[in-house]
Amino acid sequence: MTTPADPSPDAPTPAVPAMTPLAGRIANLIRAHGPISVTDYFALCLADPDYGYYQTREPFGAHGDFITAPEISQLFGEMIGVFMVHAWQQHGAPTPVKLVEIGPGRGTMMADMLRVIAKLAPPLFETLEVHLVETSERLRGVQRVTLETYSTKISWHGSFDQVPEGFTLIAANELFDAIPIRQFVQTKTGFRERMVGLDADDALTFTIGIATLDPSLLPGETGRVPDGTIFEYAPARQAVMQTLSERLRTHGGTAVVIDYGHMVTSFGDTLQAIRNHDFDAALAHPGEADLTSHVDFEDLARIARDTGVHLNGGLRQGEFLYGLGIAERATVLAKDREPPEQRLIASAVDRLAGEGAGKMGELFKVIAVSSPAIHLMPFRPVE
Ligand code: SAH
Repeated sequence: MTTPADPSPDAPTPAVPAMTPLAGRIANLIRAHGPISVTDYFALCLADPDYGYYQTREPFGAHGDFITAPEISQLFGEMIGVFMVHAWQQHGAPTPVKLVEIGPGRGTMMADMLRVIAKLAPPLFETLEVHLVETSERLRGVQRVTLETYSTKISWHGSFDQVPEGFTLIAANELFDAIPIRQFVQTKTGFRERMVGLDADDALTFTIGIATLDPSLLPGETGRVPDGTIFEYAPARQAVMQTLSERLRTHGGTAVVIDYGHMVTSFGDTLQAIRNHDFDAALAHPGEADLTSHVDFEDLARIARDTGVHLNGGLRQGEFLYGLGIAERATVLAKDREPPEQRLIASAVDRLAGEGAGKMGELFKVIAVSSPAIHLMPFRPVE
């Protein structure tokens, strides 16, 4: 997640262990079998059954390591709810509907979406089934509590392909950044896979492996980039995008994907760790830091198009939220509240949709994919 939560002033300074338990486990693995790829390192950091970050930590929200948009304000989930109702109407208001969220975190966004859907579109709300795709057992427990009011509508799945078929509306906020990437480094002999090995002091360090990269995957006419340049390639993200696009193509529906990243494929190392509210070195505290990387939206869009679904977007999150009416909704929410509450609402809108450091409006991007092809507001129509 890109935005560290505000440091709590009374948080004790944690004792920094020389090596986390997961670092010890990874070091043993490397001693026995040699360096591991960045993608394997990424996967172990987040999902190791004993020490993985999502298995052990409560990362979200004001007291976690980072804050995501739904945890900043109910306005975010409400806008996604408005967008879902709009998509459903543009699809001709079919029933029944499967409303799917992949990577629901604490379940906050789904709760805010459902409240709006129930209000704006009772016929949709009454017939919809909610399917949550979540890999972390612990987070499923949190989601169960947040969404208790809706328990009869909800089921959980370990992967998207287990969601029953049918017309589907899908939302994924900050999911793709948490799916591991491969990294390749430019060397004298071309791009080679970046690996994690051990240095002379037995500490984790980046090394260069044997696997090469198909040069056709590199962005356009850039010529030869300097040695050391990193290129990120994300087949696991592509696979998720492809699976959900195929589902939409076969059974109809729309998926909205929100994350931080870039609209155009480019070079650069975007692997980032956040620990105790602050940026951390990617190899410093495996299992104790959140590990993510920026999302290449051009790549996701290409996968969707190649699968035969229609693409709306992309837009920056700020344009998307303002286009859906977040400012107007904030005004309604602030009405008859005390000034401090009104200021909180205004600052939440600014953090979600504003531009500049610490704000999400510019760095975060939104795309929507649909089948059959429909135009969705506030995306610009395709000529
Ligand atoms: N959408 C939430 C949480 C984002 S964090 C929010 O905005 O607050 C990423 C979420 O994705 C977590 O719930 C994590 O457990 C889940 N996750 C990570 N990889 C996943 C995968 N491959 N399939 C489904 N969920 C996954």
